[in-house]
Amino acid sequence: MSDSKALLSVRGLKKHFPITGGMMGREVARVHAVDGVSLDIAAGETLGLVGESGCGKSTTGRCILRLIEPTSGEVWFQGKDITALDEQAMRSVRRDLQIIFQDPYASLNPRHTVGTIIGEALIIHGIARYRQDIEARVVDLLETVGLRADHMRRYPHEFSGGQRQRIGIARALAVEPKLIVCDEPVSALDVSVQAQVINLLEDLQEKFDLTYLFIAHDLSVVEHISDRVAVMYLGRVVEVASARQLYDNPLHPYTEALLSAVPIPDPKVKRKRIVLQGDVPTPINPPSGCHFHTRCPIAVPHCKTAAPALERREDGHMVACHLRR
Ligand code: SF4
Repeated sequence: MSDSKALLSVRGLKKHFPITGGMMGREVARVHAVDGVSLDIAAGETLGLVGESGCGKSTTGRCILRLIEPTSGEVWFQGKDITALDEQAMRSVRRDLQIIFQDPYASLNPRHTVGTIIGEALIIHGIARYRQDIEARVVDLLETVGLRADHMRRYPHEFSGGQRQRIGIARALAVEPKLIVCDEPVSALDVSVQAQVINLLEDLQEKFDLTYLFIAHDLSVVEHISDRVAVMYLGRVVEVASARQLYDNPLHPYTEALLSAVPIPDPKVKRKRIVLQGDVPTPINPPSGCHFHTRCPIAVPHCKTAAPALERREDGHMVACHLRR
């Protein structure tokens, strides 16, 4: 069931990748990349999704858009479970759901000019058909993201990383989407450029009533842009709260550890660094019970056998931990 107030509701989403081996190519194991994720995003909201690399956040984003097919679970968008749609019905939904990738260079065809890259999206979705209309719309989009009209004749390699990300944003905006999955859009950029791109995304959100799922591995990046933040560990969401609640009063021990590594701009404020023991376990054979029990500084024996559910407190803060409810 979806949350009736949410633009997007994800329920019990799983993505397991089979590992095959032997002469017969039989399945010998599974990577539990996404292992039962549920979350809601309200219209106009930005939900930050954070966690270390390999925790399943990008796979979650791609499953939501059905760029890869989920193993199980539901994705409700505007009251429809889009995992049940056939390819034809899905085509019209795709216009509403767009993605901005981490590496803008890899996602832009190097043999096409910027005008062709952005114009292609307009043609595919039937937004513009005639050359004049396409060019006018491309110019408008380039100016909206802070580029110039003459940039449409250039190729992706002629731009800086920040400019290429702006092209990626213009391409996503071209089809007038409702929700954009921003998949680590600033991770590959210099810090000064990161701020410019984040400010641009915020301005565009206000101008076009956009909703964002903003994926990042760095909590300091999502703090500024997110209304709420969801924290993932080994394929599961372990905490969801408003950005303020999460940064002021993290409840899950994993969130505490992540936050303790975020530098504080005020030199007078000191924060104790929590260094987690051991490495992140492999998602091929994740730990039983609470996936975090092998590294959790406060784990009790019960944590090894029982997986904690994500429970909502009265203040809306949600946490999956036997000891921190
Ligand atoms: Fe730690 Fe147990 Fe809570 Fe998991 S359920 S975070 S292992 S205390």
